[in-house]
Order: sequence, then structure tokens, then C-alpha cells
Amino acid sequence: MKFDNAIRKGAKSVYENLPWFVRDKIRKTFQNRFVSPLYEQLPLSVPHSLHIDPANLCNFRCNFCPTGDFELLKTVNRPKGVMQFELFRKIIDELAEMCTKSGEKVNELHLYKDGEPLIHKELGKMIAYVKK
Ligand code: SF4
Repeated sequence: MKFDNAIRKGAKSVYENLPWFVRDKIRKTFQNRFVSPLYEQLPLSVPHSLHIDPANLCNFRCNFCPTGDFELLKTVNRPKGVMQFELFRKIIDELAEMCTKSGEKVNELHLYKDGEPLIHKELGKMIAYVKK
């Protein structure tokens, strides 16, 4: 049993170090047969994946999207804005600390949720900070 766990842990480590598109292909090809299901990984030491929204506004007005509908956003009191770099840095620093303490890593970090991330003037700086 310990041997199985060691193999599984080793395979997981190799898998997690593959580029995301290779992992995605493996997931789709093998339909998660070689990836332990999330319930076997719980409780997690770090988030499995994370979405951080650098900006929740957009300069386009796609008619199917609430982000482009300023009148709708007013009715639900959703404020528009961009994330301050210092807040972003704090989130990343805390994540890095969690990863260091646990020896685990976040599998996916998406710099997108409701808005157009390219509208943030410091997006490049954010990406560089995450990569560092
Ligand atoms: S966030 Fe995307 S889908 Fe929504 S209005 Fe902007 S470009 Fe269109």
C-alpha cells in the first residue's frame, strides 16, 4: 500500500510539472483514469486552481456579457475597477508562503474572471511577479 502511494505521489509530481496543455491533453485522452480524483486529494493544502480578476471592466460591449452592460451592473451594484498591484502582490505572496509551507503548488492560476485583463496597465508586471 505504501508502495502504491509512493508511485502515485511520484506520478502526480511528474504530471504537475508538465505544461498545462500537455496535462489538458492527458486529462482529455485518459478521462482522468491516471489522475487521482479531487476527493482523494482533500483536504488541500493550497488551492487547486485560482482565478484573480485584474480588472472587472471591459472596453467592449458584447451583447451576451454582463461585464459589457454598464446599466445592468448598476442595477446589481457591482462596482467597476482594476485591482491595485499591492493587493495582487499580497495575494501572490500569501499563496507562495502556503506553497512553501506545504510543499504543494497551485495547479492553475487564471488572471481573468469577469473583466478584460488586458485593460489593466500593470498586467505585464503582475505576470512577471507571479513568474518570479
Ligand atoms: S469581457 Fe469579454 S465577452 Fe465581456 S464585453 Fe468584454 S470582450 Fe465581451
